[in-house]
Amino acid sequence: MSAKKANLSGELKKYFGFSTFKGQQEQIIDNLLNGKDIFVLMPTGGGKSLCYQLPALISEGTAIVVSPLIALMKNQVDAVNGLSSEDGVAHVLNSSLNKTQTKQVFDDIKSGKTKLLYVAPESLIKDDYLDFLKDVKISFFAIDEAHCISEWGHDFRPEYRNLKQIIDRIANVPVIALTATATPKVQDDIQKTLGMANALVFKESFNRPNLYYEVCPKINIDKEIVKFINQRKGKSGIVYCLSRRKVEEFAQLLQVNGINALPYHAGLDQKVRVANQDKFLMEEVDVIVATIAFGMGIDKPDVRFVIHYDFPKSLESYYQETGRAGRDGGEGHCLAFYDPKDIEKLEKFLAQKPVSEREIGLQLLNEVVGYAETSMSRRQYILYYFGESFDPVNGDGANMCDNSSNPPKVKDATADLEKSLEL
Ligand code: ADP
Ligand code: MG
Repeated sequence: MSAKKANLSGELKKYFGFSTFKGQQEQIIDNLLNGKDIFVLMPTGGGKSLCYQLPALISEGTAIVVSPLIALMKNQVDAVNGLSSEDGVAHVLNSSLNKTQTKQVFDDIKSGKTKLLYVAPESLIKDDYLDFLKDVKISFFAIDEAHCISEWGHDFRPEYRNLKQIIDRIANVPVIALTATATPKVQDDIQKTLGMANALVFKESFNRPNLYYEVCPKINIDKEIVKFINQRKGKSGIVYCLSRRKVEEFAQLLQVNGINALPYHAGLDQKVRVANQDKFLMEEVDVIVATIAFGMGIDKPDVRFVIHYDFPKSLESYYQETGRAGRDGGEGHCLAFYDPKDIEKLEKFLAQKPVSEREIGLQLLNEVVGYAETSMSRRQYILYYFGESFDPVNGDGANMCDNSSNPPKVKDATADLEKSLEL
């Protein structure tokens, strides 16, 4: 072990109180500190933040962290500031700050106190900020949730597309891009857009061996779900529906059936939404019925099931949404209801979109249909989609899906896979 690495463990302990690095964190940090561009593909919960927080804390100057959501940024700023007795080690820079607050942030950066500056890409583009940041010492750039750059990702943000030009205007320093979206298309897109073709790539497995994947035909769905939840009384779960109206209706239906459930969607009053989410987190309510607005940044370790009332629009979204189950390593049952008619509806909806969006949307839907209709290991199917091979007989979690624990009639599964996933 090199002297520098031994040092990193010391810094890890000092700042975060952890005695060991998770996964490849140490190599990532070591390479970043040595001036390399880095691309990190790690599932949610893998510990990506530390890959830029620790090097930022021990580097000269300020690291600029680009992140898409104010809430995520605020959480991290509070967490980082909590690590130190001093205030101002981390700041968020955005247009909600008044003049005095902005000056404070700028002063803290100039004095060298601020090690991490969180910004949304749409803020970074402002001339005032650009002019200021050009003249101060920047240690490196971290692009968190980097899949937002790609239209192939599940959360495309047009503002992310110009990041490369903005970065180039501010400083010539290393860039670390991080995401939990690892499909080869998104990966390629991120590297091209950020000009990181030669970056060092660190990829961890996306296999979640404790999750059980199951697809059911959408028949008697209300009854089936009530039965499923009643067999798991007192356990936490999420039911995802496509529309707000369905969320409301189904939450009521569950309540009428004696299930302790609440709705969550972006159309609810802010107060109600936060209250419902908190009740779920505090275990005052067992089941949350939600649109996809629910989940980003939610870290409840003991979610025991994720049900998809409606099939998701992409396999990527499905992976992210089911990924909220079994964070603690315990049981996580992922049940999706499939009706080809629902897919037709989604196709019709896509038909109204501009051509490029439509084409991407249709291809993503194709992959989802392939997953729903496959007779092979669902885990193998998902991991193949992430560019990862999986042994359906001996791999970790091999029997954890409907097709594997109860295999259908023999079919050429590999040909099936290749046909439906044109990667
Ligand atoms: P990601 O961004 O990859 O989803 P986070 O950065 O939010 O993951 O980290 C997930 C959790 O892992 C956090 O609670 C964090 O404190 C914890 N964590 C990160 N690195 C370590 C480590 N080396 N040892 C112990 N816990 C860690
Ligand atoms: Mg993260």
